[in-house]
Amino acid sequence: MDKHIVIIGSGLGGLTCGYILAKNGYKVTVLEKGAQLGGCLQTFVRRGAKFETGMHYIGCIEEGQLLHSFFRYLNLLPSLRLSSLNTQAYDIISIGSERYPFANGVENFTEQLVRYFPNERKNLENYWQAIKEATASSPIHSLSTTNEPIVLNPAHIKQSYDAFLAGITGNELLQLVLAGNLPLYAGERGKTPMYIPAFINDFYNRSAYRIVGGSEIIAHSLAQSIRAMGGEVLTKAEVAKINCNDTKATSVTLKTGDEIQGDYFISNMHPARMVEMLNTNLIRKSYSTRIGELTNTISNFTVYIQFKKDTVPYLNSNLYHYETPADVWKGKNYDTATYPKSFLYMHLCAAENQQFAHTAVLIGYMNFDEVAQWQGTKVGQRGENYENFKCEKAEKLLTLLEKQMPGTREYIEHYYTSSPLTYLDYTGTEQGSMYGVLRDCNSSIHSLVSQRTRIPNLFQTGQNVNSHGILGVIIGSILTSGELLGVNHIVRQISNSSNANGRRM
Ligand SMILES: Cc1cc2nc3c(=O)[nH]c(=O)nc-3n(C[C@H](O)[C@H](O)[C@H](O)COP(=O)(O)OP(=O)(O)OC[C@H]3O[C@@H](n4cnc5c(N)ncnc54)[C@H](O)[C@@H]3O)c2cc1C
Repeated sequence: MDKHIVIIGSGLGGLTCGYILAKNGYKVTVLEKGAQLGGCLQTFVRRGAKFETGMHYIGCIEEGQLLHSFFRYLNLLPSLRLSSLNTQAYDIISIGSERYPFANGVENFTEQLVRYFPNERKNLENYWQAIKEATASSPIHSLSTTNEPIVLNPAHIKQSYDAFLAGITGNELLQLVLAGNLPLYAGERGKTPMYIPAFINDFYNRSAYRIVGGSEIIAHSLAQSIRAMGGEVLTKAEVAKINCNDTKATSVTLKTGDEIQGDYFISNMHPARMVEMLNTNLIRKSYSTRIGELTNTISNFTVYIQFKKDTVPYLNSNLYHYETPADVWKGKNYDTATYPKSFLYMHLCAAENQQFAHTAVLIGYMNFDEVAQWQGTKVGQRGENYENFKCEKAEKLLTLLEKQMPGTREYIEHYYTSSPLTYLDYTGTEQGSMYGVLRDCNSSIHSLVSQRTRIPNLFQTGQNVNSHGILGVIIGSILTSGELLGVNHIVRQISNSSNANGRRM
């Protein structure tokens, strides 16, 4: 076949498309603007301590489960080392002074929460039944082939998650507990469609693991495979322009001025960035306007903590904390005067059977507006005011952490921080948004980003297409690569590469 595919961006979406297409005989070139591959899969090292920036735990990864099948197909299993989170409490939802565990397995999950909500067993069973119905509507989730267009049940797209929860139970506290891991999708009350948390909660409920040594192994392994199949993966290769003739895209121009020709192009950038790089009548003004007007999910402020050696026991759960019930859905509407009222706290896994934590991340929401005044400045050169701003935010988050995990502060050796500007610089995502375009159940069509564009040989991949996260992005990459290969063809390849024991969902 030997057609040449140029992929702009080496995030999970770009690399997964690169792998699938190289495996199917295409000549692949991945162009990454940064010095490191992987976008949100990047890690960084300070004073010998490694930190993950945007992939802290994965699910559905046990033999026979969906991500395991994807990873086998993508040849990721040989380099992957995993550490199971606590099966009785992979997530802990902390509201006020009470803590509620999310346990693996539907029955186990229900049993654990019935201890706190004794009258809610039936409602919890109904909750899981509805989640299972939502995920069953995606044929890719069961690795089934279909000749029908792949669309989810409209009821799951048009109903907000909070409205869905209110229909499941009248117990308002339980509603909040079931929404308690919403930083995983930056959920917004009245907007986040039910299907997003449904897929995510199902995903982690089946199994939940940290990646030992950090998530960058996924990017490196995919890049290595692409190269082994004859493709190229280049860093410090920022695309500045996508060039078109009267009918299609013909080449990209790098910031260096170099031009790279291709037969097909895939953008792994935020769609607004892609549209800015096009100067062609093939894209209608209405499309560019719609893309420019898309709302994005909120960004975050993260404190990367390095502990003194062998002081803090390794926490095998993710802690989602909210000061009061009202803070669960506050999200981007947080109050700067009383910030922070919530956080997500996770230890990172450096080795199997880890006894003590070496590093941790402490994540709080942050609106881009708070750092907009420093936009355009360079990493490390943003000035004293910016450093003071970050220090103040970090101290506030650490104070709240100390309240929840007394004694932690004294064991902190060093800490570092990132803001929405960091994400903007390192991934190019609009306003440092965590998960890209906000899916809104009130305008589901408007917030939809298709893998196709008006330019017949230009496609999109990544978290803005389909959904975010390891599962959402890989499925989106199957849909994007499917534009050239056929989705059924890829699904068959994945099924065939699954082990002889078959799949267990
Ligand atoms: C704080 C945080 C925590 C997260 N935790 C988890 C988690 O625990 N589990 C999970 O499943 N998901 C998690 N996610 C989500 C997940 O990391 C993302 O959804 C996913 O990695 C996004 O992949 P992507 O393909 O869209 O690309 P991105 O990661 O956005 O990468 C895009 C790439 O394109 C490059 N690029 C941009 N412009 C250009 C250009 N002009 N030229 C060349 N290259 C360019 C960028 O440099 C970047 O490398 C988290 C996200 C965040 C922010």
